Amino acid sequence: MKYAPVQNFINGQFVAAASSRQLPVISPLDGTHLSVVPVSTQSDLDDAVTAAKKAFPGWSKTPIKERVQVFFKYKSLLEKHLDELARLCSEENGKTYGESVAEIEKCIELTEFATSLPQLVTGEVLEVSRGVECRTEYVAVGVVASIVPFNFPAMVPNWTIPNAIALGNCMILKPSEKVPLTCGRIAQLLKEAGLPDGVLNIVHGDETMVNAICDHAGIEAVSFVGSTKVAKLVYQRATGNLKRCLALGGAKNHLLVLPDAVAGMTAQNVVASMSGCAGQRCMAAGAMIGVGNVDHIIDRICDEARKITPGENLGAVINKASQERIERLISEAEAQGAKVLVDGRNAKVAGKENGSYVGPTVIDFVTPNMGVATEEVFGPVISIMRANTVDEALAIENANPYGNAASVFTQNGGMARYIIDRASAGMTGVNVGVPVPREPFSFGGWNDSKFGVGDITGKSSIQFWTKLKKSTVKWNAEAGVNWMS
Ligand code: NAD
Repeated sequence: MKYAPVQNFINGQFVAAASSRQLPVISPLDGTHLSVVPVSTQSDLDDAVTAAKKAFPGWSKTPIKERVQVFFKYKSLLEKHLDELARLCSEENGKTYGESVAEIEKCIELTEFATSLPQLVTGEVLEVSRGVECRTEYVAVGVVASIVPFNFPAMVPNWTIPNAIALGNCMILKPSEKVPLTCGRIAQLLKEAGLPDGVLNIVHGDETMVNAICDHAGIEAVSFVGSTKVAKLVYQRATGNLKRCLALGGAKNHLLVLPDAVAGMTAQNVVASMSGCAGQRCMAAGAMIGVGNVDHIIDRICDEARKITPGENLGAVINKASQERIERLISEAEAQGAKVLVDGRNAKVAGKENGSYVGPTVIDFVTPNMGVATEEVFGPVISIMRANTVDEALAIENANPYGNAASVFTQNGGMARYIIDRASAGMTGVNVGVPVPREPFSFGGWNDSKFGVGDITGKSSIQFWTKLKKSTVKWNAEAGVNWMS
């Protein structure tokens, strides 16, 4: 085992979980046994909530301009430890080193946004009648939880940690049991940056811990990022327990490609979107719809895909089970009549025989009812469907239950606007393969890709992580009394 067993982080200390049950942490790159992660119990969660509750009065009453000083320092530490964090992230998740560097750089951008929060939460004040003022203030919610998935071991935790904590909350973080290592290092860096003990606590575990978080009376709000199946369960359970909840789910993002699109740029964007992070991004292009004759662009897409080599410029998928599921979906589509133009099945990486790799895969003549068209494949696979008209393509896009992202590739501005207006997705793009809004714009999809109101990052997240206090005050007794005062 390469690293020591993973421990919970409670009240500023790494501590062993109460239970001795553990799960292995395996690197998808080559099958190395990296560590073990505890399956924590209710008593571990109780300890974490007690620590967070104890820290809350002091932290929430610390002025926000002081609170964000921690995040200025944290940002410097992320920069200082970028290489080390990127290596750890790549090792446990399987993405390439370059993709992991980009992930840590995104954490830096998220932290920069959090340091700007004092500018965005100034509240309002108005003299509403003679001598009477109404004023609003953003107040922290309390002890909050953040439950995160495997595909971004650093970025998704940093969607929630800087904003929620800078706004005065104390947090319980539940990392994915598949990638628990990077989160521990993040907690250490935040402590080094000056975050008081108990403000951030990490409790490892599986679905039992997620359920315990949703049920815990000491937790006021739950944010979740993961698959749609679990997002629905978490949203129902947390709101059933009268907590506020924002639960982001899976996706099936469609790229609509029109014949007038710039072929080279479109091909590069399509392939980068479907293959980046081995297709394991909730913003990955899962499906492309060619409108009319786009054969010349599909040829270029195949050329681009063939430039990608597993183990070199393409990382691993999370585990063998995922690899087998992706390969099964490709084979089923082929058996149903689709044409596999570039085939990533049975990928081998010399010296990494125990890694979990799928090569870039381009499948043409997919029909909307095939598994590769309806399911989130979460692998480096693009399923190409054909449509005669833009409205036919939009009907396919609109019929999918998800709603994270949709993009159009065209040089026709009016047509691009027509498509953006009608796509059923929260994040749309024109000639952009991965239309992720960057700070201060917020991140969040629609439909089955998100349950709850508001978005998880950017300005929109302020509403989720705060309560609005309204005060009506009158200090001047001589102001007189009328019906409004
Ligand atoms: P997952 O839903 O399997 O796991 C997410 C979290 O839920 C983990 O912490 C896990 O321990 C826990 N969990 C798993 N099964 C559970 C259950 N039955 N009950 C309660 N908790 C459970 O997701 P994943 O496989 O780790 O991540 C990949 C998924 O996340 C993809 O669907 C991807 O699209 C999605 N995702 C979405 C976004 C977004 O912004 N919408 C961002 C990143 C990832």
